Amino acid sequence: MSDSPSPNKYLCIDFLNTEYALKNTRVETLTTAAQVADWLLAQGLFAEPADQARLQSWVQQVPYELLALFQALRADMRQLLTAWQQQQPLPQAELARLQALLQSSSRSSTLVKGAEGWQLHSRLALPRPAALTIPVAESLASLLLADEAGRIKSCANSACSILFYDTTKNRGRIWCSACGTRAKALRYYHKQKTAD
Ligand SMILES: [Zn+2]
Repeated sequence: MSDSPSPNKYLCIDFLNTEYALKNTRVETLTTAAQVADWLLAQGLFAEPADQARLQSWVQQVPYELLALFQALRADMRQLLTAWQQQQPLPQAELARLQALLQSSSRSSTLVKGAEGWQLHSRLALPRPAALTIPVAESLASLLLADEAGRIKSCANSACSILFYDTTKNRGRIWCSACGTRAKALRYYHKQKTAD
């Protein structure tokens, strides 16, 4: 499994946040295959030149298929995560699709000597566009396996639906980072006003 630079620890959380609600309006940030490709590259995925070329050729050739694959996986992941968090049985069709995706993954690994010693570079095979979604699917699998779904929360601001990973010891965090900063600024403002 690849390391993700995600501030939320799990790539799948950042992926779920590509669709959110703002003041009860759904915001979709992945509306084209090019946006999906940009998102993947921004996560540090498929950085190898040959993989990038593969990705870009699919963006040109099968843009609707590529976009639909990611949107469908995201919808499945939301159902699975919600069921897991509510300790409900995982929905069967969604789970079956996730399983099929995980089973289809194939990797080749190479030992590479770097400045900090030997590392194992593993590269995902990309025989078809669906393989592009595997890192996100694996991230959801590792989140469920680590039993950390309880740390994934939806922001307490009802006008915001951003998911975040709560790293606090008592699992007491309620705001996403943007709303948290705003709430803090507001508290400071009120404190200053009462002090006047
Ligand atoms: Zn928020």
